[in-house]
Amino acid sequence: MKLNVLLLPGDGIGVEVTSEAAKVLRHVADAFGHQVSTREGLLGGVAIHKTGNPFPDETRELALNADATLLGAVGLPEFDHAPPDKRPERGLLGIRKALGVYANLRPVRSYRALLDSSPLKNELVDGADMIIVRELTGGLYYGTPRGISGNGAEERAVNTMTYTRPEIERVAHMAFQLARKRRKKVTSVDKSNVLENSQLWRRVVSEVAGEYPDVALDHILVDNCAMQLVLSPKRFDVVLTENLFGDILSDEGAVLAGSIGMLPSASLGAKKASGARIGLYEPVHGSAPDIAGQNKANPLGAIGSVAAMLEYSFGLSEDAQSVYGAVEEVLNSGCVTADLKPKGKPATTSEVGDAVCEALSARAASA
Ligand code: NAD
Repeated sequence: MKLNVLLLPGDGIGVEVTSEAAKVLRHVADAFGHQVSTREGLLGGVAIHKTGNPFPDETRELALNADATLLGAVGLPEFDHAPPDKRPERGLLGIRKALGVYANLRPVRSYRALLDSSPLKNELVDGADMIIVRELTGGLYYGTPRGISGNGAEERAVNTMTYTRPEIERVAHMAFQLARKRRKKVTSVDKSNVLENSQLWRRVVSEVAGEYPDVALDHILVDNCAMQLVLSPKRFDVVLTENLFGDILSDEGAVLAGSIGMLPSASLGAKKASGARIGLYEPVHGSAPDIAGQNKANPLGAIGSVAAMLEYSFGLSEDAQSVYGAVEEVLNSGCVTADLKPKGKPATTSEVGDAVCEALSARAASA
């Protein structure tokens, strides 16, 4: 298969982790007989430095022409007080909008070797394996009217939580299709006891469920879901929710994995004529200025994002499983960066990337 991938390393540790993730991508392609073609573009602080714009037109073109985009992270402390449209983070919103990615997927799974890194009791986390599907382009973050008006005692602020039927349907279909390839269970999260918006959400999700009789659907209120995520995380397979609830719940789910450096994410849009699904893949973490440039960052979130790309954009589930398997072997071997609290000397970012490549080679040779 031909994999046409855009790399956007961005700022800080984004550069270091993307370099390791790209190394793993090339390794997978060699091992499993794919042809990978990568181009590199500018996004975030580095793009502001070179072009004055966090999301240059050239990057937009490159992203629209690629089958999938792998992003590192954006953000530099020197821009912390810059106006919003001159901040690196504006580049993230720009590329998400340009690609029309409407569903954000965050796989959360526990690795045995990292059970002690999770703040939850081992027996609660051991075996947890879920994916949170968050609607990304609607709801309270985009609804109008919005804004602050009036003065003094008359001052008021308004945000609007709005969803249309088609917006709910397309993300619900995504969740049910994912569940079909997993343990065939969707849990839809809403606040339908209070919000009309959630009542429509629940009704539409239930209707979509009718097209997937092989997948079980249950509904849960968001407050109960927040509690169940830490009390009983193993009960979840695919968690489907709207933008605001998903933003909060996915960070709560992140705790299960032990370190923010472990977490991949995928933001998906429509299918292209080539059959590849438009996808933007990035680790969940930021640019971590405190450890940038020191070869200390954990690259496994970025490497997991490559696995997600293989699975969701290119439909290469077996290759993706090989990457997850190689990551697990590396974790078991103890070759981990400082954030995972190794017993001895921590490995560097590049040593972890090399170890994943070696484990992949061993898997390919024995296949
Ligand atoms: P951060 O995720 O960059 O860092 C939080 C903490 O986690 C830091 O102590 C950092 O050292 C550690 N950490 C993060 N990733 C790690 C990794 N892979 N390995 C080891 N340790 C890791 O969040 P922050 O400090 O709040 O933000 C820093 C900058 O990143 C800001 O400019 C922020 O706007 C930006 N940011 C960008 C994204 C993104 O690009 N998607 C996401 C979040 C934050």
